[in-house]
Amino acid sequence: MPTYGRFEIALSHGSGSYVWDVAGKRYLDLGGGIAVCALGHANPEITQALIAQSQRLVHVSNLYYTEHQGRLAQQITQHLGGGKVFFCNSGAEANEGLYKLARKRGHEEGRFEILTARNSFHGRTLAGISATGQDKVKKGFEPLVAGFRHVPFNDIEALENALSPATIAVLIEGIQGEGGITPATPNYLLALRRLCDDRHLLLMMDGVQCGHFRSGRFQSFQRILENEPGSNGFQPDAISMAKSLGGGFPMGAFWVREPHADLLGPGSHATTFGGTPLGCAVALKIFEVIEREHLDQNARVLGDWFLRELEALAAAHPAVLKTARGMGLMLGFELRDRDQAPGFARVEKPPALQFVNRLHEKGLLTVPSGNFVVRLLPPLNLSKHQAEEGLEIIAQTAREFDI
Ligand SMILES: *Cc1c(COP(=O)(O)O)cnc(C)c1O
Repeated sequence: MPTYGRFEIALSHGSGSYVWDVAGKRYLDLGGGIAVCALGHANPEITQALIAQSQRLVHVSNLYYTEHQGRLAQQITQHLGGGKVFFCNSGAEANEGLYKLARKRGHEEGRFEILTARNSFHGRTLAGISATGQDKVKKGFEPLVAGFRHVPFNDIEALENALSPATIAVLIEGIQGEGGITPATPNYLLALRRLCDDRHLLLMMDGVQCGHFRSGRFQSFQRILENEPGSNGFQPDAISMAKSLGGGFPMGAFWVREPHADLLGPGSHATTFGGTPLGCAVALKIFEVIEREHLDQNARVLGDWFLRELEALAAAHPAVLKTARGMGLMLGFELRDRDQAPGFARVEKPPALQFVNRLHEKGLLTVPSGNFVVRLLPPLNLSKHQAEEGLEIIAQTAREFDI
């Protein structure tokens, strides 16, 4: 179905941070399948994990225990200091679990409403588009699922004013991805935690895009709150995960901390394919490689370098680039609008699309976020050399639009 505005690129195979199209043209992939390919393409260790596990057990029902699922839950809870995990197959589904958790938590008190942020993105299911704070995903699908309202991001006063007696939870991304790479501020997170404690609300975080070590820490709030006074012991009540968790194998999860971890009891939630031995073996391998090769550190160091370079580029070409922002290997640069930038005025298309198309011509894959932001969400094992190669193509493209 024509649900995607697709690029005129047909890909055939990949290796590490590179992919090749069917005509043999090579691209450096700084989009990473939109923050999915944590270890790049055709990673031999993932391939091996898939082969070995598929020779033992691909799928059994969640009516039974399997070792890999337990071990994967252990990995996740170790990084979050306790709690429990439910495994599913995608980000939208992981968030669906959070909505049900909130509904269950508030049911006896008649509370059901979940506040989310403007410009947020939470997936494309009916509840997902209801939760998402962007009109463009909702249009044509009304009536939406009841019980979601949106408030400005990083504005605690607006959120406090929006609370109603029916509010049960707040759901935000640590770093808004589809909304243009906007990190939550440390003060916002801390104030949110206090507010949620005071009003007995669940603080839920969507870590689907910004999670899994992309920020330089397992979850983005851990990076955002580093060295922040008063942040000791900060924890959201629940976190959704997907994308890099499976590195390309469809995998989602949501984590819930005590005392809410048993709220969804037997019979209250389920999925046929969630947490299969095959998916969990792959996800465990990804954890192992990230840890062994210190890829969290690589994301931090390389990302910080890349951000400084993009900021310098923005300063050098103010008529093309407005700003650069992000954290770790979740970066974006914002382009000027067509009425401000002569370089973008010649063509009707949004600046982000024009820029991304030009990058494609030069053999670089990136992902637009809205009309003005170009996103970089590369594999966590990107090398410095590859980052330099990507930056050079971006810089060359900025020069071309700077007329
Ligand atoms: C991609 C994304 C989702 C949806 O994940 P799917 O696997 O496409 O369902 C949800 N939230 C955020 C923040 C995302 O980036």
